[in-house]
Amino acid sequence: MDNEKLLYDISELNSLFRESASIQSLLNKTVEMVAAHTKSDVCSVYLFNNENNELVLSATKGLNPDSVGKVRLKLGQGLTGLALKEMRPICEKDAASSPNYKFFPGIFEERYDCFLAVPIARGISKIGVLNVQRQKGKSFSDSDITALEAAASQLADIIENARFLMAMHEPYVEEKSLDVLPEQLKFVRGKIASEGFAYGPAKIADMKKNLASLLHRTYDDKYTLDDFEKAVANTAAQLEELQERVGQKLSDAASLIFAAHLVILKDKYFIGGIIKLIESGENPPVAVIRIAKEYIDNFATSDNSYMREKIQDIEDLTVRLMNNLLSENQEHDKFKGHIIIARELYPSDLLILSSEEAGGIVLVGGTVTSHLSILANSLRIPMIVSDTFELLELPDNTPMLIDAEIGNVYVDPSDDILEKFESQQKARLTLDRQRLSVKPITETRDGTRVHLMANINLLADLKVACELQCEGVGLYRTEFPFMIRRNLPTEAEQFITYRKLVEMVSGKPVTFRTLDIGGDKTLSYYHDIKEQNPAMGLRSIRFSLQNKPVFAEQIRAMLRAGAGADLRIMFPMISSIDEFCQAREVVFESLETLEKQGIAHNHRPKLGIMVELPCIVDIIDDMAKEAEFFSIGTNDLIQFMLGVDRTNENVSGSYLPHHPSVLRALKKVIHAAGQAGREVTVCGDMAHQEKYLPFLLGIGLRILSIDPRFLPRIQQAISNIDIKEAQSVAESMLAQARITELTQALG
Ligand code: PEP
Ligand code: MG
Repeated sequence: MDNEKLLYDISELNSLFRESASIQSLLNKTVEMVAAHTKSDVCSVYLFNNENNELVLSATKGLNPDSVGKVRLKLGQGLTGLALKEMRPICEKDAASSPNYKFFPGIFEERYDCFLAVPIARGISKIGVLNVQRQKGKSFSDSDITALEAAASQLADIIENARFLMAMHEPYVEEKSLDVLPEQLKFVRGKIASEGFAYGPAKIADMKKNLASLLHRTYDDKYTLDDFEKAVANTAAQLEELQERVGQKLSDAASLIFAAHLVILKDKYFIGGIIKLIESGENPPVAVIRIAKEYIDNFATSDNSYMREKIQDIEDLTVRLMNNLLSENQEHDKFKGHIIIARELYPSDLLILSSEEAGGIVLVGGTVTSHLSILANSLRIPMIVSDTFELLELPDNTPMLIDAEIGNVYVDPSDDILEKFESQQKARLTLDRQRLSVKPITETRDGTRVHLMANINLLADLKVACELQCEGVGLYRTEFPFMIRRNLPTEAEQFITYRKLVEMVSGKPVTFRTLDIGGDKTLSYYHDIKEQNPAMGLRSIRFSLQNKPVFAEQIRAMLRAGAGADLRIMFPMISSIDEFCQAREVVFESLETLEKQGIAHNHRPKLGIMVELPCIVDIIDDMAKEAEFFSIGTNDLIQFMLGVDRTNENVSGSYLPHHPSVLRALKKVIHAAGQAGREVTVCGDMAHQEKYLPFLLGIGLRILSIDPRFLPRIQQAISNIDIKEAQSVAESMLAQARITELTQALG
């Protein structure tokens, strides 16, 4: 085998790919090239789809070309599947006699006895398999294996870069209609991302599929320029209405999601390009598709995630515009009351679904960032994450019940299940009404006063919090309005949102947390840094301190909004006293300029920190000399103390709030705050888990900040606790060094 030449040519493919941006032609050239260099009769590339664990024949030289896209193997199936499963080369002199051989009629593979397959992978990520085959007697040598492995590893990089494009070029497959629902699809268990229940007709929301169906259609009916212009006007009117609705429902999010679509709709190159094609005789639907595809292809090659996000806008807009042009699917509230089954969701998609009043969401195969689930909670949309991909193939309108309190999805539920669900629902409503009779003051059984504050993500949460008489806002996660938007909110925009919050709380304390982005919550419009380990990267206060103008604008907006209020500002992820002082300096500078400019503002906000990093625990006494209050973010504190990703299901068993070190750290912080006369709150999820309440109160915690939904339940639970008993519970828990015993003690 001409190894060096092969490698050289493969790397040439890389530049070829950059120029052509067509993955199929790239794969076709690859198989030609590898077959020629290796003097093989056959060379094939199978690509792996890790969503359904399937390898698909994607290009071949030597096998029946019609079998491309049709031959599919499960991981481990056949010699090819085995190579990928075991991540090793498989070399056979007589493939057909191997127990792993899988015969496919019609691809004419049986003529080639000598077989060599190597996995295409990047690290442990499986990408596909590269195969070569020869006729009897021409078996492959060790050096062939080495060369093919080297080629596969180069190919891996190229394919990985092109994955996105491949999705765009995937042949459109007519939606399968599942006439008979397989038994295993009737009941699916998933992971809860946002609690609640919903029953309604299913709707598959797969934008790519919608667009793919439009791309692969023929348009026999003739349309005119006038039809196109009407479609543009209708589209604009719909978008404006949607924008208005989002604005009313979620004023802080008054995101410009639909405005972004409107901008494209007014873009002279986009619309102008389409009109030019129509004027030169092209049928309008074809013209729309051609220009949209040009835009998508262009954006897809960009390294910039903001640009790639734009693809979504174009896809979304194109589908809407085409539907208006073809007068199809013009219903306005296409998601209303539906259970949406989707593959991938951005925060902005959640807003769209919420503004159209979708009933619930099943996210298939997607990863749910902690903030996506917090947002779904704020928007009160029940959401379940499932890895049952077959759900995406359900016909639209299949009745579906989701119970996102325990993570169950029932497809076409029987009358029995529905009845049970309805009676449960009634019982729940009665219970909720009882729970709503919350008292303005929370006390333990022995009359010790405890303060319940609210965690707020969107202003919508605050309405509930106020109804439930919370004693103030203990944590306002200011990143949400930043995350749902497509551009950075200005100081004026932030001021409006923050002021609303302050007014709604009317006189009670309000704690603003400064921007806590980075990690899994990136702002695509602002930074596009790829980090090896984003959880420990440029995030939170580090991001703010490195982006001082953004930070200072936020601080000014807070100070202005907090005029006359009990304003507290806290900094997330603080790792040292020095860092706190740097952040505090920005507040001081902002106070000075506001003063000079004569703008109304809060003159003396309290400045505190989130205790989320273990490194703070040992210096907490010194920290208490500077920071005026502490808020313990147990979600991150546990993650970083135990080295367990809080969003990773695989290690959720190790995410233990009652790990002895966590308990002792909590005790230390609460004690130090008490000694220094500083207020201390727990605002992580541990505060709303009833089983931890005796411990937390027992070590002296008196302020909890929780999602408003939990207020009635937590108030009730606290009223059953006796402080003396809680203290002895806490003491005995602190004396334990073993997790097993603590787990047992907690029941
Ligand atoms: C925490 O880390 O406990 C916390 C409240 O912050 P967030 O969940 O927003 O990271
Ligand atoms: Mg946190």
